[in-house]
Amino acid sequence: MKLHEYQSKQIFSQYGVPIPKGRVAATAAEAKQIAEELGGRVVVKSQVLVGGRGKAGGIRLAKSPEEAEDLAAQILSMEIKGLPVRKVLVDEAANIEKEIYLGITNDRAARRPVMMASAEGGVEIEEVARQTPEKIIKVHIDPLLGLQGYQARDLAAGIDLPREHWRAFGQIAQGLWQAYLKSDATLAEINPLVITAENTLLAVDGKMVLDDNALFRHPDLAEMRDLDVEAEAEIEARKYGLSYIQLDGNIGCMVNGAGLAMTTMDVIKLFGGEPANFLDIGGGASAEKVAAAFRIILSDPKIKAVLINIFGGITRGDEVARGILAAMEEVQPEAPMVVRIVGTNAEEGRKLLAEADMITAETLADAAQKAVAAAKGGN
Ligand code: GDP
Ligand code: MN
Repeated sequence: MKLHEYQSKQIFSQYGVPIPKGRVAATAAEAKQIAEELGGRVVVKSQVLVGGRGKAGGIRLAKSPEEAEDLAAQILSMEIKGLPVRKVLVDEAANIEKEIYLGITNDRAARRPVMMASAEGGVEIEEVARQTPEKIIKVHIDPLLGLQGYQARDLAAGIDLPREHWRAFGQIAQGLWQAYLKSDATLAEINPLVITAENTLLAVDGKMVLDDNALFRHPDLAEMRDLDVEAEAEIEARKYGLSYIQLDGNIGCMVNGAGLAMTTMDVIKLFGGEPANFLDIGGGASAEKVAAAFRIILSDPKIKAVLINIFGGITRGDEVARGILAAMEEVQPEAPMVVRIVGTNAEEGRKLLAEADMITAETLADAAQKAVAAAKGGN
C-alpha cells in the first residue's frame, strides 16, 4: 500500500525527521487559508500516488495566499498520469540550496534492508541510478542491530555532505530507519532531503510503501488507504478475498494457487505473450467467487484473451465451470477464452464449458500457446 506524501511525512516527523510546516487541502479556498496561516510563501503540491509530480506541473510555488488559491484550483483540476488530483498539500516554501536523496528498501539479494543516499537528489534520481550508479552510496542494515551510527556517517561521507550537517543527517537517517522498521514498510524515501539557505536539513518530499501482509498489525496505518486512487478492480478483488494484481499485458489469467498463477504467467511469456494480471482464486473457490474473479478480469479494457488454468484439488472443476458460465451471462465477454481444467471433476467442468464456445486445451503449454495466438488475433 502506497502512502501519500503528506501521510509519509507525518510518519517521518513522528520519528524526528524535520518536515516543513503545512497541511492538506481539498479545495482552493482551504489552500488559501493555509497559505495565510503559513505567511504567504508556500508550495502547493498535488497528492497523487505517482512519482514525477513536479515534472507534470503538479508542484508549484506561490508567493501569496491568492496565488496559492489560484494554483490549488489549477492543480485540483489536473490528472497526473491518469490519476485525478483530489487533495493538495500546502507547505511552507523551503529555500533550497541543495537536494539530496535518502531512501531505504529491501535488498532481496542481500536479504537485508539497504539505505541509500546520493548527493544528486531531486527529480532525476532514476536517471542517476541508471547512468551513474556509483553516485548512489549504499549501506546494508542488520535488522537485529539496526542502523549504526558509523553507517550513517559512511553515507554522509560518501555523498560529501559538509561536516556541519552530519549530526542532523545521522538523526534523519535513524528516524527514517525507525519509521521504515516500525511501520513494516517496503520503501521509505526522502527525495529531496534539502539543505536550506538557513543551513538546516529538511525533508521536502516523502514516500512510503507499506507491506500489505503486515497491515493487520497497523490498524492506524491501514486506515490511511486511499480507496479513491486504487485500481477499482483491486478493491473489488479484496472484497472477495481474491489475490489480484493488474499488469500491463493483454492476456487475462484466472488460476487457482499462487504458484500455479506465477507459472501460468511465465509460460504465457515463454510463448511471446504478456499477462494482463496475476489472479489467484484460492483453494476451494465457489462458483460465486469465480464469477467475481471473471468480472474483475474482464473489467480491464486491455484484455484480448483470457486463459483459465485450474488444477482441481479442493477446487472442483464443475464449480469453476458453473462460475464462469454465470459470469459470462452477466458480462458477455468478446475476448476468446482458453480453458485448461485438470483434476477433480475436470470432465464435468469441460463438458459444461464446451457448450459455451470456449477453446479447450490439454496441457498448460498448449493453453498458453492458444491464448497467445488468440490475443494476437490469430484464432
Ligand atoms: P516529485 O516531483 O513528485 O518528486 O515532487 P517533490 O516534492 O520532490 O518536488 C519536486 C521538486 O520541486 C523538488 O525536487 C524541488 O526542486 C521542488 N520543490 C518542492 N518543494 C519545494 C519548496 O518548498 N521550495 C522550492 N524552492 N522548491 C520546491
Ligand atoms: Mn520527489
